[in-house]
Amino acid sequence: MSFASLGLIDPLVRNVRDLNYRTPTPVQAKAIPAVLSGKDVMAGAQTGTGKTAGFALPLLQRLVQHGPAVSSNRARVLVLVPTRELAEQVLQSFVAYGKGLDLRFLATYGGVSINPQMMKLRKGVDVLVATPGRLLDLNRQNAVQFDQVQTLVLDEADRMLDLGFARELNAVFAALPAQRQTLLFSATFSDDIRAMAANILRGPVHISVSPPNATASKIEQWVVPVDKRNKPDLFMHLVAQNHWEHALVFVKTRNGVDYLATVLDEAGYSVDTIHGDKPQPARLRALERFKSGEVNMLVATDVAARGLDIDDLPLVINVDLPIVAQDYVHRIGRTGRAGAKGVAVSLVCADEAPQLAAIEALIRQTLPRNEEPGFEAQHRVPQTSATGEIVKKPKKPKKPKVPQASIGALPALRDKPHAQRSGNKRKPAAQPSKARGR
Ligand code: AMP
Repeated sequence: MSFASLGLIDPLVRNVRDLNYRTPTPVQAKAIPAVLSGKDVMAGAQTGTGKTAGFALPLLQRLVQHGPAVSSNRARVLVLVPTRELAEQVLQSFVAYGKGLDLRFLATYGGVSINPQMMKLRKGVDVLVATPGRLLDLNRQNAVQFDQVQTLVLDEADRMLDLGFARELNAVFAALPAQRQTLLFSATFSDDIRAMAANILRGPVHISVSPPNATASKIEQWVVPVDKRNKPDLFMHLVAQNHWEHALVFVKTRNGVDYLATVLDEAGYSVDTIHGDKPQPARLRALERFKSGEVNMLVATDVAARGLDIDDLPLVINVDLPIVAQDYVHRIGRTGRAGAKGVAVSLVCADEAPQLAAIEALIRQTLPRNEEPGFEAQHRVPQTSATGEIVKKPKKPKKPKVPQASIGALPALRDKPHAQRSGNKRKPAAQPSKARGR
């Protein structure tokens, strides 16, 4: 199958050829015709399987072929994403796929000055990629109005529709034209989100190219059980022992990120960090340095879990498991992209058994456990399985109680010394000679 056979116009076919895309990926093969037809789409496909081109290519074509030119302070395609980094990345994809077309693209997100974004919106843009908070700010200040929006895309849709973004998204939905195309793309969809999506979409085409919530099959995954306090030492030990020199490392807290980065730095690794406390330009710079190979280790919170496309990333290490099981799929999906191989290692302590069980149930796999000699967990991590069950350690059988009634019948046994009670057949010690003489 070729991109041309999906109905794409020559300039787009040329652009993907220049990017060395030989054939459409499965999600592209299904999504491109559906999006071109103007229908609503709900698409689930594994991480790193080309979802961005799955919506960007047909939308670029529709922008060229349908609808009036964009007016000032308007956008025709609105792509909402959960993080600022992803906004930049999706923008770059539109720019690359849409090279040579007479279209304007822009990404807007918080953490940087709003004024340059307002200036760029003056002429209007064909594609606006945005995080919801900044989009609403721009809308309140009349820098962007939504009456020309013909398509709304929610990338990482399950994250966009969950509670964290609910208020902002409701405000955006209320301002959008009712007559529009809506596309939801994600690697994971929970049942709640599916139910919510049913209210947003009209007669959608459902696309699922792999079992929902699946991790990419070429990612080798395992778990290392360890006590919580030993995680940093185990992490450094594994990194040194396995010569892991290029990895994306996830840690639960911002302090944890900074701590681990310091330890790596002191050990001579080139490292940068991404977390919510860092100013946006520094976050983007860290990502760029990691992508370009200037630094080999990137330590991050879940801010970096979604959508980021890092070429040839061989390894993801979860020093802490994510709270939300779906985030595991997204985190490890940063490796094993576009058919490449990848490795995902998770350090898991006893407290994290419920999270591990939820992850295994979601991905329908029991993850193999490899204990590291010298770091065996004193607090045992309870057994978990792909059913989501946590297997409790069997309780020690209680010592049978001696029935009250029979106690009186055994006075001799109760009073005898231990060696005799336990059936020890050792000869009784010789009596002192004094006694013998009596
Ligand atoms: P995405 O899931 O959109 O983030 O894409 C994951 C990676 O696959 C990116 O590096 C894309 O450049 C690449 N990619 C997307 N579509 C194709 C294709 N048809 N052939 C080869 N690589 C692709």
